[in-house]
Amino acid sequence: MRSHLLNDTTAEHYRRSVTEGVERVAAKLATTERPFTGVTVDALAPVIERIDLDRPLHDTTAALDELEDVYLRDAVYFHHPRYLAHLNCPVVIPAVLGEAVLSAVNSSLDTWDQSAGGTLIERKLIDWTAARIGLGAAADGVFTSGGTQSNLQALLLAREEAKTRDLAALRILTSEVSHFSVQKSAKLLGLGPDAVVSIPVDHDQRMQTVALARELARCAEDGQVPMAVVATAGSTDFGSIDPLPEIAELCAQYGVWMHVDAAYGCGLLASLKHRDRIDGIEHADSVTVDYHKSFFQPVSSSAVLVRDAATLRHATYHAEYLNPRRMVTERIPNQVDKSLQTTRRFDALKLWMTLRVMGADGIGRLFDEVCDLARDGWRLLAADPRFDVVVEPSLSTLVFRYVPAAVTDPASIDRANLYARKALFASGDAVVAGTKVAGRHYLKFTLLNPETTTADITAVLDLIAGHAEQYLGESLERAS
Ligand SMILES: *Cc1c(COP(=O)(O)O)cnc(C)c1O
Repeated sequence: MRSHLLNDTTAEHYRRSVTEGVERVAAKLATTERPFTGVTVDALAPVIERIDLDRPLHDTTAALDELEDVYLRDAVYFHHPRYLAHLNCPVVIPAVLGEAVLSAVNSSLDTWDQSAGGTLIERKLIDWTAARIGLGAAADGVFTSGGTQSNLQALLLAREEAKTRDLAALRILTSEVSHFSVQKSAKLLGLGPDAVVSIPVDHDQRMQTVALARELARCAEDGQVPMAVVATAGSTDFGSIDPLPEIAELCAQYGVWMHVDAAYGCGLLASLKHRDRIDGIEHADSVTVDYHKSFFQPVSSSAVLVRDAATLRHATYHAEYLNPRRMVTERIPNQVDKSLQTTRRFDALKLWMTLRVMGADGIGRLFDEVCDLARDGWRLLAADPRFDVVVEPSLSTLVFRYVPAAVTDPASIDRANLYARKALFASGDAVVAGTKVAGRHYLKFTLLNPETTTADITAVLDLIAGHAEQYLGESLERAS
């Protein structure tokens, strides 16, 4: 069994095993014709159920053969140009290489004495990101597991910086289309059930700053204490970007912490064409970025950035065994002092390899391509009488629904769209997402694959229309 430990005597086994795995994945990527096989839970669950975890195979090849059945064959493949559903990107090869290196060396980024150069690399990437945002000389931050954790940490800092300790009085103001992790964070931070104040959005799904101003004034009158305004730079459903400069002005006027959730929109930080769409982000007190969304990085890779490094002290605890206080005066850099996590992956290495091989412009070009594709897709949809499309895209999301001329009952249209999404998933021909707009069911393309073409978009729209028509035809037959 010792032969399975990665060390000086097992280098050859390591090389062979990992290469064998890489070969399997490479073969899979080369031959995957559809983003999904359409497998059902009922079909797949028994395959996994049958595996006896107490009877190991003692053989890498056999385990990989088995993996084909339990996972690889039926996985949902984000690299496929007709995977158009959620905020999952195809990944860039330098980052995958980084992933292989970081898990083999297995540094832990909580302390200098478990990471050495890893800590300095992460710090340099944080500085690089903060500079791209324009947060100023006192900025800092830390890598996290994802946007959810980044938002939680930012709101923890905001709560600690708030002007009251009375948790019941604290309010977080955010648009009605902001991410649900804001609600979750409020709960975890011990705030009251009404802590999150939902600000209405305009026609383009952007926070209405007039309403924000009104709510800030109302809070003051009602003795409530706004601890943060969470602006969304790229809403999950629409890619809409809140008016950051106006929100920044209001935050300054009322002395409220401004958090920008740029989990999705952070790709614009590398953009060569559309960087101006997130102008105003430099006024933030804290920013969430998800490199695993618009920087084409494998999950997980995210960071929370802050304007003032000193605010990170709210996440600091000293443990004698790990990061004793004296290390601060000895100037030993321990990232755990800034993080909610303790043991932590060296995810930063993936971004490092990406920037060293491709450069930020390489990433920015890929993101610009999908933004431009979304604009072309929007034009296609707007010109197609079969579809109703909402919100001209600021990033790479299209939200639309099939609206047959002959059917006027909105509930039937809802059902036809829900059916089309399900039928498409079951066919495996394409994967799309869905959401609700003004109470009605819509479909959604999140375009993050530069390999997707307008021809793919047209083909998938035809498939959707076909499934929806079939559903409506059958329900007409049932009714008559
Ligand atoms: C995806 C997303 C999040 C959550 O990020 P995870 O990495 O999935 O935890 C937060 N905010 C926005 C706007 C998002 O799109």
